[in-house]
Amino acid sequence: MTALAYALPAAAALLLGVAGGFWWGRRSVAPAPAPQPDAGPTLAELLRRAFTSSGTGLAVLSRHGDVVMSNAQAVTLGVVAEGRVDPRAWVVCERVLRDGTVQAVDLSPLDHRGRRPEAVLATVRPLADGFTLVEAADTSEAVRLESTRRDFVANVSHELKTPVGAVALLAEAVLDAADDPVEVRRFSTKILNESTRLGNLVTELIALSRLTGAERLPELAEVDVDDVVREALARCRLSAESSDIEIVVDDDSGLQVDGDRTLLVTALSNLVENAIAYSPPHASVSVSRRLAGGVVEIAVTDRGIGIAPEHQQRVFERFFRVDPARSRATGGTGLGLAIVKHVLANHGGGVSLWSRPGTGSTFTMRLPAPAGSSGSPRDSAGPTAVPTAATTDLPDPAELAGRAGG
Ligand code: ADP
Repeated sequence: MTALAYALPAAAALLLGVAGGFWWGRRSVAPAPAPQPDAGPTLAELLRRAFTSSGTGLAVLSRHGDVVMSNAQAVTLGVVAEGRVDPRAWVVCERVLRDGTVQAVDLSPLDHRGRRPEAVLATVRPLADGFTLVEAADTSEAVRLESTRRDFVANVSHELKTPVGAVALLAEAVLDAADDPVEVRRFSTKILNESTRLGNLVTELIALSRLTGAERLPELAEVDVDDVVREALARCRLSAESSDIEIVVDDDSGLQVDGDRTLLVTALSNLVENAIAYSPPHASVSVSRRLAGGVVEIAVTDRGIGIAPEHQQRVFERFFRVDPARSRATGGTGLGLAIVKHVLANHGGGVSLWSRPGTGSTFTMRLPAPAGSSGSPRDSAGPTAVPTAATTDLPDPAELAGRAGG
């Protein structure tokens, strides 16, 4: 809409000139001066070219609703079809002729089967002498963004409401059970869990808002991949111990990437925490790293519940959970993989997923290797590049776009 607002005065001035020239040209008795061979295009010609090539859909209407002039974009946007103006625009033009005010009209297609944009917004302004100008722009992207924003706000509100409501109910339960220390302890523990969940949710929302451009990302620096792996595993040690999960790690790689260390540790620990959370007790999770074709890969493989093919793209969307009850039971916020996706995207990389229900999953973080990285002993795409746990039972990870959605 802002672009449209900027375009309006310029286009109106332009069109007044063009329409004026048009009528002047028609009424004028004196012949137009013969063009000079080297004089270049006349002002009227330049205005005509500007009108026809404008990215805004432009149509000038007479007081009877005839299309006096229009450009190709007006046809693309559906303002003019087969020489006639969209009836919705004409209703507004008549009003503009009466009131002399500028008015907006929604010209979005009623039927979405054509190749027209999803949303078209137009402004109608009076051009005096009974003429009106319709200026239309494709607002599909703005409409899509607004709908994503609305969904996100609705999701966040819902996610916040649940633990806040639980805390209120549990606090009442504590008051009612004031004389029973066992019950007080039980309810207080639940309050603590819900508060932790709220805290995690807010922390992850802040992380996500930074990653999606609300704040400038820190400068990328040389980061040691082995350090990232060590720190991420240290963060996950408690969860692994409490589920009795063994984490198998390959040898140090000596690899470096250009990145933000904290963000990379967050992304990797999100993957490892998930691998632990969605595996049965006593299972093993493996973490491996390698350089393959100029890309540094860090893979996290589990032998847990796996993800059905129809959910594999969607798990990267904010708040998408295959099993909301399980995610809630493990303290998940539904934002972990969205954060991973954005961290990798901000590093010029990506995340891919191979998974099979009942067998397990491999999430692979891919980062561009800094220019001049030499191949390490693990610079190969062969099976030795991935630890045994990932290759004995699991086929090669198929690339799945982790970039879709959220
Ligand atoms: P959550 O906080 O719910 O774990 P995530 O964004 O980290 O949110 O993951 C989204 C969903 O993807 C999870 O709820 C779960 O259904 C699925 N998921 C993520 N990682 C795994 C995994 N390693 N194995 C199976 N399912 C997983």
